[in-house]
Amino acid sequence: MNSRRKFLLNLGVGTLGMGLLPKIGLGSIAKTNKPIVLSTWDFGMQANAAAWTILSKGGTALDAVEQGVRLTEADPRERSVGYGGRPDRDGIVTLDACIMDDKANIGSVAGLQNIKHPISVARAVMEKTPHVMLVGDGALQFAKEQGFLEENLLTAESEAEWKEWLKTAKYAPVVNIENHDTIGMIALDDYGNLSGACTTSGMAYKMHGRVGDSPIIGAGLYVDNEIGAATATGHGEEVIRTVGSHLVVELMRQGRTPQKACEEAVRRIVKFTQNRGQSLDNIQVGFIALNKRGEYGAYCIHPGFNFAKYDRQGSELIKGQYFLKNK
Ligand code: ASP
Repeated sequence: MNSRRKFLLNLGVGTLGMGLLPKIGLGSIAKTNKPIVLSTWDFGMQANAAAWTILSKGGTALDAVEQGVRLTEADPRERSVGYGGRPDRDGIVTLDACIMDDKANIGSVAGLQNIKHPISVARAVMEKTPHVMLVGDGALQFAKEQGFLEENLLTAESEAEWKEWLKTAKYAPVVNIENHDTIGMIALDDYGNLSGACTTSGMAYKMHGRVGDSPIIGAGLYVDNEIGAATATGHGEEVIRTVGSHLVVELMRQGRTPQKACEEAVRRIVKFTQNRGQSLDNIQVGFIALNKRGEYGAYCIHPGFNFAKYDRQGSELIKGQYFLKNK
C-alpha cells in the first residue's frame, strides 16, 4: 500500500471519502469563526445582541437562539412575530414556532393563541414531551400546564389595521411588508455546536388554521450539527414545497458554501413556481445559512431582504443578494 493511501486510511477516509472533505487542504485547517449568530431581517440586530450576550459568555447556541428571538416575540412594534403580530382573517392572533438543537432534538407549536413566547413553548415540547409538535388547543393546554400565562396578543394597532383590512378583505400578500416578517435565528457556539429557532405570527390575515413553514422542521428551520444550519422567511407555502431549510443544509453537505446552498434553494423555488405557471411577482423567500466553520450566506428572490450577523468582528446588518437582478 502506498504511503498516501495508508495516510488516508489512518485518517478514516478512503479515496471515495476524499471528495467529501472540505476543500481546505489537509495541511491548512481553516479556523472556525465562532461564536456567531445570524438572524433574518432588521429586527435580527436587536435579537442577535441578546443572543450574543449569551454566546460571548460561553453560553450554548440553544439558549442563545431561544433568548434572542424572545426579544422580538415580546416587542409589540414587530407586527409579524409574537405579541402585536397581525391576526388571521378572523381577527385571531395565532403563532407558529420551532426550535432545533445540535443533537437533532426538535420541538414546535403551530396555531398557538394567547401565549407571548411560542418559542419557549416549542422548547418545552422538545424537552418535556415525547412528541415534537403540538397545535392549536392542545398546544395552548400544554403551555398552560407548563405555567405560561394566557394574555391577549392583539394590540390596538394590529386590531385597527385588521378592521381596515376587513373593508376589502382582499388577501394579497405583498413582498417585504415593512421589511420584516419571521425571525429565524441560527447560531454556532464556542463549543462548535449549532442550534436554531424560528418564530412568527405567519402571513397577515391568513385563513384561520393556516400553518406556514416556520414551525415545520425542515421547512422553516433545519440544523445538522455535522454540517450547518439554515432558516427561512417569506412565503411559507413555497418553502414547505421545497422543504427549503433542509434542502439548504443538504446542499452544504454536498460541498456547497452556505451562500451557494442558499442560491440553489432559491433557484429551486423559482423553478417550481415557474413550472406551476405562477408568477414570481409577489413571492418572496429568503434563506440564511451557517456552516460548521462559521461561514455564512443568504439569498432571496426579490431585493429588500436583510439579515443580521453578530460575531467577534461585531454586529452588522447585511443586504441579502437576490435572484431578480433586473428589479
Ligand atoms: N414564513 C412565514 C409564513 O409563511 C411568514 C414570513 O416569513 O413572512 O408564515
